Parts: sequence; C-alpha cells; structure tokens
Amino acid sequence: MTLRLHNTRTQQVEVFEPLSTEKVTLYTCGPTVYDYLHVGNWTAYIYWDTLVRTLIASGYRVERVMNITDVGHLVSDADEGEDKLEKGARREGKTAWEIAEFYAEDFVAGMEKLGLLPPEHLVKATEFIDQQLDLVRILKDKGVTYQTTDGIYFDTAKFPSYAEFAHLDLAAQKAGARVEQNTQKRQPWDFALWKFTPAGENRDMQWPTPDDLFELPTGSAEIMGFPGWHLECSAMAMSILGPTIDIHTGGIDHIPVHHTNEIAQSEAASGQRFATVWLHNNHLKIDGTKVSKSLGNTYTLQQLQENGYSAMDLRLFVLQGQFQNEGNFTFDNLASAKNRLEKWRSYAVLRHQTHDRLDDDNQKNDAERGSISLLAASGALREALQDNLNTPEALRVIDQAFSSLDSCRLDDIYHHGLIEFIRAIDELLGLQLEQSTPDIDDDAKRLIIERQRARDAKDWQASDRLRDQLAKKKILINDTPHGSRWQWA
Ligand code: AMP
Ligand code: ZN
Repeated sequence: MTLRLHNTRTQQVEVFEPLSTEKVTLYTCGPTVYDYLHVGNWTAYIYWDTLVRTLIASGYRVERVMNITDVGHLVSDADEGEDKLEKGARREGKTAWEIAEFYAEDFVAGMEKLGLLPPEHLVKATEFIDQQLDLVRILKDKGVTYQTTDGIYFDTAKFPSYAEFAHLDLAAQKAGARVEQNTQKRQPWDFALWKFTPAGENRDMQWPTPDDLFELPTGSAEIMGFPGWHLECSAMAMSILGPTIDIHTGGIDHIPVHHTNEIAQSEAASGQRFATVWLHNNHLKIDGTKVSKSLGNTYTLQQLQENGYSAMDLRLFVLQGQFQNEGNFTFDNLASAKNRLEKWRSYAVLRHQTHDRLDDDNQKNDAERGSISLLAASGALREALQDNLNTPEALRVIDQAFSSLDSCRLDDIYHHGLIEFIRAIDELLGLQLEQSTPDIDDDAKRLIIERQRARDAKDWQASDRLRDQLAKKKILINDTPHGSRWQWA
C-alpha cells in the first residue's frame, strides 16, 4: 500500500511522492532548550518518530534534520521580549551556553528513554550562524530585507504569497493589531532575520554582524547581534538537505508564524518550493486545559517516572490518538495506556512458550480459528500507519491480533508469526516489546514444569508453593482453559 499523508499546504490527504526515489528528506522543528520538555512537547516528537518509522517500513531511506533552538527564540513570536535562553540563564544563575547544553543533553536522554530514532542531523542553531548569515545576505541582495534600529527584517510585502500557507487574513490582522511596539516595522507581521544586541544589554550569545549586512553608519566598530528564531530552520534545512525538502513537520502552533516565515524567507531566497508536504501535530491538553508553565500543569518525563509511569507508557498513551486530533492527558488515560502495554507484554512473552512445529501448518490453523493471522496483522499494522499515520487503528489491530491468541492452545500459536508480529510492532511503534520481555531462566522453567506436574497429580499444595516461588522471581502464572501461561509481574 502506498503512503498517504495529510498535507497542511494543500489541506488534503495525498499519496506521498518524494522528489527522489533514493531518499526522503525530512525536517522536524526541534525544541527550544531553555527548560525540560513537557509531555506536550514529547507528543510531537513521538508522532514524528512514528512518521520516520513508517517511511522506513514503506521502503524509503530517510535523511532527517532536527534543530535544537539554543538562541534567538524570543518570549513572543512577534520578535519581542526576552530571548528564552537568556531568560533561562538568569533564572538559574548560569550562562545561556550552560543552559543550552544542559537541556539539550536532557532532550537527547529523553529521546533515548522514549526510543526515538536519532535524526541523521541533530544540529544547534548556534552551530549554524554562518549559514544563517549567508541566508540573510542572499535575501538582502534580492532586496527583500530592510533594516531598523534593532535589526534586519524580512519585508513580507515583497513576498506576495505570504498569507497563503496559513490562509491568513492580513487585513483583519492589521485592524486588530495592538499598538505595535516596534513602529519601524513596515508590516506588523514582518519578522526579524537578525537582531542587534541592544545597547547596554549584556547577552551571553551574540556574534559580530558582518559589515556588508547593515547599512547605517553607526560610528561603532562592530554591531553585535543574534539570529531570529525562524531563520535557523530555513538555513539548516536548505544547507543540509537542499532548497526543496520532501516533508517538514511541526506543531499546529507553528503554522501562522514560524512556518509561514520559514516559507517566505526560504522561497524568496531559492525561488523554489521549500517543502512539498507539511505535517502538523495537534496539541495535547492536560486535564482538558492548555499546557502552560504559568498554570503549573506541565509534566516532564521525570515527573511521570516519579508517579510510576515509564517513557514507554507515555509513548503508548500518545499513540492512542491520531496526530491531527487534539489529545488530553490525564493520569487515568496514562494508566489505561500502561495497562494496555502490560497486557501486550503478557502476549509478547508467549513467544518463549511456543515453538515452531515440524508440520509448520500453524498459519492455516490460525486462520481456521477465525482469528486474524499474525502475519496478516503485521501487514495490517503497517497499512494503518500508511493511512495518514492512523495510530489508533494500528493499536486496534494489535489488540485484536493478540486477543485472538486467548482462545489458542500454546501449541497452536504460530510461533514464527508471533515473533514477526512483535518485531513489526517494535519497528513501527518503537514500543520495545521484545526488549522488555526477556525469557525466564532455566531455574524458573524447571519450577513451571514441576508445578504443571503437581497440578496434573492434583497436588494443590505443591502447586501453590511453586506458584509462590515463581512470584518471588516476578513471574506470574495464569491458568487458562487452554493451559498455563507465564508472564512477567
Ligand atoms: P518549543 O520548545 O516551544 O519550540 O516546542 C517544541 C515542540 O513542541 C514544538 O514542535 C511545538 O509545536 C510542540 N508543542 C508545544 N506544546 C505542545 C502541546 N501541548 N502538544 C503538542 N505539541 C506541543
Ligand atoms: Zn522551525
């Protein structure tokens, strides 16, 4: 089946066709590293990891860039207020560089905990200052920039399709605009490419503005400055992946400003379409409320762990929703994801309790039982994801396939099919079922056989004693009408 994705640019679900058959180029807007990521942020990266996994399963080689914003993201998207990194530095009594390094490392550690595949290029804005200045230079040479006392701005009037991507009503926006603080901007939605460090401000992160980029004689030998937030994504994407990328992802909050601006500056510079497909994840709410630091309702991975939930529990919780739908985080919802994952693990360990049969006709048995064949389920799982990353449907396929094993004797379960299915789940959804469900040791296996013998001999006392011994090893025994099965407690 072909891969279909909802493209924000065309507002349609389309068959995905990359520019080159060799590889898919993908850009993901990464985090601003001034604090720990919260569950809402992680939601975005879990969905885009699922996208990468689906692309790989669809036969593509993926080259992905993800940025780490470590400079220039101001408190307000309208290029006003403080730089979030400098603010974080003051909050913690450290330098902006230290803040960036600490939270970027925590981000990478969180990605590992969540089993997110590392992007081919995980790059920091501060490592791409030259490329960002090069882009400003190209835009300046094309005559689409202007200078104010506080920086170099993009003149959106010179990019006629500015409002198209987000279907902005600029006239209404202008009428409703509050009194602009920055009166030198030609249009309220013009945005800073490069900001000058205000006189008297002591910034940790700043670079000399190249002479050819500013025009007014200032009398000072050097004007220090720093890049605007939007610039980094265009500069990194185009310098690493080329002028046109196949897929660009971000959150819905990026559509009206950040991505609109990325498109304007990239396309004004290259004269080519910046990205073919744009994917946007909807937001996660918490207890039905917007996630907000000021409301104090954010949760970090660490806080979830302190409440007894693992990164994988969060991962499955997120996958229960489709990326375009708004999510709602509650501890009840997280608990139900945790239960679901535990249940799946109890099926995953059945692979240690089943064997390939010599007459290997299990697949037929499976189908004859009216249960969905495990191999067919692996295919159905992939197809659900290829259908615009329909993760809720993928999880339903898994529930159905696993529960069909309830009515099987262990000997009748298609061993090879079960292994393939578990691998398909791990490859596509990154739930680490295989790694979280090791086999039991030989000693435990002996106890299980002894217990079975005791049961056969109706020696219930011995059977109970052996059950307790196994429980001490965190192994639970379930006696079903189709025989006894073990699972990890
Ligand atoms: P930031 O660090 O603020 O740049 O955000 C990092 C990523 O998290 C961005 O892609 C945002 O779109 C995304 N994001 C922020 N809040 C939420 C939320 N509540 N739900 C889902 N994604 C979010
Ligand atoms: Zn971006």
